[in-house]
Amino acid sequence: MSALTDTFRMANGVEIPKIGFGTWQIPNGPEAYDSVRTALEVGYRHIDTALAYGNEESVGRAVKDSGVDRDELFITTKCPAEIKDAAGARRAFERSSSALDLGPVDLYLIHAPWPWTAIGTDHRAGNIEVWKVFEELYEQGRTRSIGVSNFDVDDLESLTAATDVVPHANQIRWFVGNTQGPTTAWCKQHDVLVEGYSPLATGELLDDEDIAAIAKRLGKSVAQVSIRYLLEKDVLPLPKSTTPSRIRENAEVDFELSAEDIAELDTLGAR
Ligand code: NAP
Repeated sequence: MSALTDTFRMANGVEIPKIGFGTWQIPNGPEAYDSVRTALEVGYRHIDTALAYGNEESVGRAVKDSGVDRDELFITTKCPAEIKDAAGARRAFERSSSALDLGPVDLYLIHAPWPWTAIGTDHRAGNIEVWKVFEELYEQGRTRSIGVSNFDVDDLESLTAATDVVPHANQIRWFVGNTQGPTTAWCKQHDVLVEGYSPLATGELLDDEDIAAIAKRLGKSVAQVSIRYLLEKDVLPLPKSTTPSRIRENAEVDFELSAEDIAELDTLGAR
């Protein structure tokens, strides 16, 4: 059992390593390059980036320099949340594709159903238009799978009612105390892989005393228990760190949480 190399199988049969390395807020250049090189040395085989992160060029270069076979790697990138038209989506994909320079992408996501400056606004028609470009890219083999991010049940219902390919994955904010019940249930029912972003709540979970008590009992760190919790729920964790020791620590999650530990973590959402 290794979370780094074990895979989830998406509805289209594509295998995706069960833990991914997150790269949000890691600047392009030495920081992104070094972090991704470290992650690959530690054994991560799945990297999560986005056009909006501005670091695809360093991610691609780190992958190429690592010497790891491209076939062993899974690379996700995302079409910016602000783009809600077909021409914009095609341009965004070409930009990501040439910045990464790694051949076909493994997973291409709509970053969010609305622009970040207008969260919650209605872009159903625009998302359908963008998704039809995603379907073309998928058919052409330019991306091996396609998905969405930050989509709730309504967003998923309206997209799938008007398009052919059901998203293979939905990447949502998911951590102890924030388990996205209705969206997660919809995704499981429709065979959409749930990827959990910010599994440490962007660092906020790290001084949580309740998780710390469980971690102490198990001889693990708060980060490890928090990441393991997602795996126990069949949600794919995407931890981020630029610190080599933490990059390693976050991947050492090959232990099991007992039913009691999980039940206790489940109740922390009600705090
Ligand atoms: P996260 O993984 O929840 O937490 C990262 C923070 O925790 C950083 O400050 C990091 O510090 C610290 N940290 C990491 N491991 C640690 C450890 N073992 N011990 C102590 N501190 C630790 O944060 P995130 O970046 O919000 O989310 C992860 C990934 O999800 C992103 O990078 C991105 O790929 C994805 N994401 C996607 C979306 C979306 O809209 N689709 C949105 C947000 C995030 P250092 O780096 O200083 O070590």
